[in-house]
Amino acid sequence: MSPLLTRADAAEMDRDDGVAAARRELELPPGTIYLDGNSLGPLPRAAARRVEEVVRRQWGQDLIRSWNLHGWIDLPRRLGSLVAPLVGASGDEVVVTDSVSVNLFKLLAAALRLRHGRPVILTEGENFPTDLYMAQGLVDLLGERARLEVVPRRRLRDVLDDEVAVLMLTHVDFRSGELHDMADLTAAAHDAGALALWDLSHSAGVLPVRLDENDVDLAVGCGYKYLNGGPGAPAFAFAARRLHRELRSPLWGWMGHASPFDFSPTFHPADGVDRLLCGTPPVLSLAALQDGLELVARVGVATLRKRSCELGDLLIRLVEQECGGHGLILVSPTDAERRGSQVSYRHPEGYAIMQALIARGVVGDFRAPDLLRFGLSPLCLRFVDLWDAASHLRAVLEDEEWRRPEHRRRAPVT
Ligand SMILES: *Cc1c(COP(=O)(O)O)cnc(C)c1O
Repeated sequence: MSPLLTRADAAEMDRDDGVAAARRELELPPGTIYLDGNSLGPLPRAAARRVEEVVRRQWGQDLIRSWNLHGWIDLPRRLGSLVAPLVGASGDEVVVTDSVSVNLFKLLAAALRLRHGRPVILTEGENFPTDLYMAQGLVDLLGERARLEVVPRRRLRDVLDDEVAVLMLTHVDFRSGELHDMADLTAAAHDAGALALWDLSHSAGVLPVRLDENDVDLAVGCGYKYLNGGPGAPAFAFAARRLHRELRSPLWGWMGHASPFDFSPTFHPADGVDRLLCGTPPVLSLAALQDGLELVARVGVATLRKRSCELGDLLIRLVEQECGGHGLILVSPTDAERRGSQVSYRHPEGYAIMQALIARGVVGDFRAPDLLRFGLSPLCLRFVDLWDAASHLRAVLEDEEWRRPEHRRRAPVT
């Protein structure tokens, strides 16, 4: 048995808080312990100022001239080059555009073309629903020419064969937080002659990702989670440079044209990843993302990863210490190396327990059917916050606060 950890011990761990300065750059409401940075990252104060500037001065005063004057037209590339170093890519391999879902559609279709004659998109049943749905929709559209194979995680390697065009996986499991071995699975896909497409939605900005070293072909990721880009922030799309010449998006929008302002009646794709662009960029949403990206880059992904592992280890230890015997079942790996930046527990009353916690200012989230999810955004959290969160959780469980009717009513978003 390890000795009991007191609140003073947790406060002591915060003494050399290497991210305190960065935390002050975020708007964090007092009295809230925010354990949901993996669903919606907090607001960087600078983003609020930047959006105000873009709205009032650029849009309000400079109007249409802003496309050139303020470089609006380059935002997808410019932000792509800020995302690139966070995921081990070059600046010319990433664009910020559309949602994760739409980018998946474009890259899956491109992958099937790049591996012409191979009909299969391979993935696992535990993948994030929208990833599965986008593949299902594409297969529905393509008819005979495409097939989706969904297998349990442990069987992925066995079914990689010469029918598979692309292996599509999410790096961090959104339920358990378990991390896939990107190097190993990408190599297995390549050994079978397939491409590897990784969804980095729960990795970008919080884990070191080496798309280059791992020879990854295609990737997507989310702007509003650990990158703090704001609600509905545009996502990113990555394609390795070696694929650019052959890469074909199925959505031939004018922003993906080699020269959109020639207004030619015929589509000619732009060079490089620009051809993944489709319609007019959402300037306000792109503007809101920039400061989050710069903040993550300033602190450094390696520092954030180290802290995120320590936070996860501490939360697991505290929940065991404070809430043992109350029926919470840890579903995340105990080994920090195998875990993303979240810790999840199963409990039959998970929904009501989370509502009771939120009422106490401890904001995590719930995933059906019975999962309590605690996202550990290393920018937002101090160790003492986790001590307080665990003690609130104990109170909710001991006093059975979750039995109150107001905690049992389901809202549309969980
Ligand atoms: C958050 C998330 C998404 C979100 O997709 P959108 O189309 O941007 O809403 C997709 N995939 C995974 C794995 C996610 O975690």
